[in-house]
Amino acid sequence: MRKSIILFALLAITGLIKAQAPQPLPVDPQVRFGTLENGLTYYIRHNAYPEKRADFYIAQKVGSMQEEDNQAGLAHFLEHMAFNGSKNFPGKKTMLNYLESIGVKFGANVNAYTSFDETVYNLSDVPVVRQAIIDSCLLVLHDWSSFIALKDEQIDEERLVIKEEWRTRSGAQSRIWDKQLPIIFQGSKYADRMPIGKMEIVENFPYQTLKDYYHKWYRPDLQAIIVVGDINVDEVEAQVKTMFADIPKPVDPAERVYFPVPDNEDPIVSVITDPEAVQTVVSLYIKHDILPENLKKTQAELMAGIVKSMASSMLSDRLNEISQKADAPFAASYAYDGNFFVSKTKDAWTTMALSKEGKVDETLASMVRENERIRKFGFTEAEVERAKATLLQRYEDMYNNRSKELNRRYVQEYVRSFSDNEGIPGIEYEYNFLKQIAPMLNAQMINAMSQGLISNKNIIITVTGPEKDGLVYPTTDELLNVFKSVEAEEITPYAETVSNEPLISQIPQAGKVVSMATDDKLGATVWTLSNGMKVVIKKTDFKDDEIIMASHAYGGTSVIADADINNANMASMVPYVGGIGNFSSTDLKKVLAGKSANVNAYISGWTQGLNGSSNIKNLETLLQLTYLYFTAPRKDEGAYTTLMDAIKNQLKNLSSEPSYVMGLRTNEAKYENNPRMKEMTLEDAEKLNYDRIIEIYKEVFANSGSFTFTFVGTIDEATLKPLVEQYLASLPSGNKDAKYKNVKADIRKGKFEDVFEQEMKTPKTSVFELYSGTLKRDQKTQITLSALKQILDIVYVRTIREEAGGTYGVRAQAGISRIPEGQTTLQMTFDTDPERALSIAPIVDREVKNIAEKGPEDADFQKVKEYMVKKFQEDEKQNGYWVGVLSAYHFYGEDNYSSYLSIVNALTKDDIKDVTKQLISQGNFIEVIMNPKK
Ligand SMILES: [Zn+2]
Repeated sequence: MRKSIILFALLAITGLIKAQAPQPLPVDPQVRFGTLENGLTYYIRHNAYPEKRADFYIAQKVGSMQEEDNQAGLAHFLEHMAFNGSKNFPGKKTMLNYLESIGVKFGANVNAYTSFDETVYNLSDVPVVRQAIIDSCLLVLHDWSSFIALKDEQIDEERLVIKEEWRTRSGAQSRIWDKQLPIIFQGSKYADRMPIGKMEIVENFPYQTLKDYYHKWYRPDLQAIIVVGDINVDEVEAQVKTMFADIPKPVDPAERVYFPVPDNEDPIVSVITDPEAVQTVVSLYIKHDILPENLKKTQAELMAGIVKSMASSMLSDRLNEISQKADAPFAASYAYDGNFFVSKTKDAWTTMALSKEGKVDETLASMVRENERIRKFGFTEAEVERAKATLLQRYEDMYNNRSKELNRRYVQEYVRSFSDNEGIPGIEYEYNFLKQIAPMLNAQMINAMSQGLISNKNIIITVTGPEKDGLVYPTTDELLNVFKSVEAEEITPYAETVSNEPLISQIPQAGKVVSMATDDKLGATVWTLSNGMKVVIKKTDFKDDEIIMASHAYGGTSVIADADINNANMASMVPYVGGIGNFSSTDLKKVLAGKSANVNAYISGWTQGLNGSSNIKNLETLLQLTYLYFTAPRKDEGAYTTLMDAIKNQLKNLSSEPSYVMGLRTNEAKYENNPRMKEMTLEDAEKLNYDRIIEIYKEVFANSGSFTFTFVGTIDEATLKPLVEQYLASLPSGNKDAKYKNVKADIRKGKFEDVFEQEMKTPKTSVFELYSGTLKRDQKTQITLSALKQILDIVYVRTIREEAGGTYGVRAQAGISRIPEGQTTLQMTFDTDPERALSIAPIVDREVKNIAEKGPEDADFQKVKEYMVKKFQEDEKQNGYWVGVLSAYHFYGEDNYSSYLSIVNALTKDDIKDVTKQLISQGNFIEVIMNPKK
């Protein structure tokens, strides 16, 4: 409570609130909000972005924390059962069949999650083109609220699926949590309620035990219906009122208890290791009370959020600055304030870092020291100004795009409002509030607040990492001593030197746009620059303030010799590691505070480029960054050493991580010993050469004249032109016709099988199956192959997951590569029970052959077509999609847009059959199976 009092006092001082009652937040007037007689809450909002789409959610304010000991895992089990039959959608597949028939896809658009304190179900991007669809989706929510069938035989079938979900999710991380939670949550129910639960319960619980949980906790007073999208609010509200009226008001309902997390006087320290863990993570939590109920939904809540977000971002920046130095004990770090781990009843000021191996002591010392530095001296005025500028800019961007906000963003807010009792004043209010209080957000105020959060009570220290010979971790006593000795250190205030240099010290000699053309087909303008560069521009109104940039040129790692391939694969990291111009990556962040502009470099096998985005205001910054990424990558030995230490540590540990080993074997099976396609090993990493890496970066970005840039969004050509001339046309052209080299990247031909055993903690068999070959790379074949992949998704859910209970999910992928031209792959991967692998694995192949012989089932085929049409309609309203379409057209010469819909509409089952047959008849099949070592 202490911290809330500090906050409250501060707010009172700043005059924002009257001494006794902080001003309540208004509810966003765009939201229709209410409660039915039976206690059901609803949030309904009209949002026409995207058009004719809506999201339907039901949030349940209950989760694994409501389970009794004999129900561990049943909150999550129940979530699965919600899809296996209900009053109005009887039968196991009825609900999903209906949803998929309207293009609402399982996984992508229909999903759910169960956590400790909430369970949320969603139907997303529903095409609300007919009233009947809205009716049916509300009916799904209605059935989920109180009418799930829970048939015995379906419960039994689902036991197998959940066991496989547990198996798939059982890695080092989940084993670490299983051991860590009882320590850090000692004395709290959170210690023993991982939502996946206990497998002995999942496998054996009596049917009634699940029904007990269901009837006790799924009830209207703990549920909210959320509908956001292109719907009529009045009509949907009226429907909710009628449709959900048949759910009775609970009589003598059980109290929904929020289980507390006790305070601790002495620090709690937990060190947990696992043979399959890859990284060493040190975390320092300083627990504090959550905002008291009487301050929730008031201006105090907004204020607390703003101050905590600024303070934690400033601490993150300080830690990040330390991690960039060669002798830093940790490679990456992060600070935030929010829920203490998984609990809703306690918050924590949290600092985490990725420790270098054997440097756990020093990492913890560094984290404690930086917190102490803040507690004693606070942040500087300059830091606060930067954090404030960044926050203001983020809010301004959201505010500017407020009429083009996605349904999902609103829904997430309403779910939090319902589960955590947060206010929903809307972005207009929040942005204005922030602007209004901005002058008061100074160092004195932020420091008082953050110093209140950093205390030496309620401390939790956790260390997790790999368990292996010769690696010794400090004991809990040693860690305690570290903590205490740092507290006793003499600490000096934070000092920084911030450059006030401009981003570009010497403005380059501008070039020219030498010709302009229009692309009438895709609605774009095309400029050719004096250095040979091509610039494609498309103005859109999909957002009100968003510009997206992409660029491509041929070359990539193909132009680098085999011997240098590992250096080449690291080259795109150069600006990320060392920064650009005169700015280290930390300094760059400082100089860009308050500016919405970012650039990323990529170097793939055959191309390289710079991608980025900005708002309208910072377009020039975007282009300046781009110019510097081309011309002035910076070298930073310290940051490079830190990164390499982290990479080497990781590579050392990965050799005992089963999924990594599986990846290596798969890669080897596909590419044999092709040095260009190999994964980097520890030995390779030892040989990397920073100077050569920088040289390669410069080499591939030297041919500026061969680049095609694409800009999509709220662009004004007249504004863009002088900037393009200044920063892009001014680049040296290099070789304007740069090409890629035809290096070998072929997949092994014929049949190949690799079955091997691997040491692992949780026994599972992992299966990889790949058909490969060559198909004509035209748009129709690509679309057909994509449809085949999606049909197989449906087929495998039906056969392997549901009929056989053999896996949590089969991941299918398919594609035809541009280079090598026409190289086609269809691959499937999944995990299963080692005892059953021999009977499950053949189903994968059987179903592919089945399609090659008979074609897909009509219902599966229609579902996929429906989804592809729906997805296309959503995509073509996105700037990101258009960047892809225009790049493909103006760089590769492929129009993937104009005929897309007509091809999908004309697609037949025979097309699917033929493509499958064409591929598998080429006789190339690779199977890799990893079994647990006995
Ligand atoms: Zn699940």
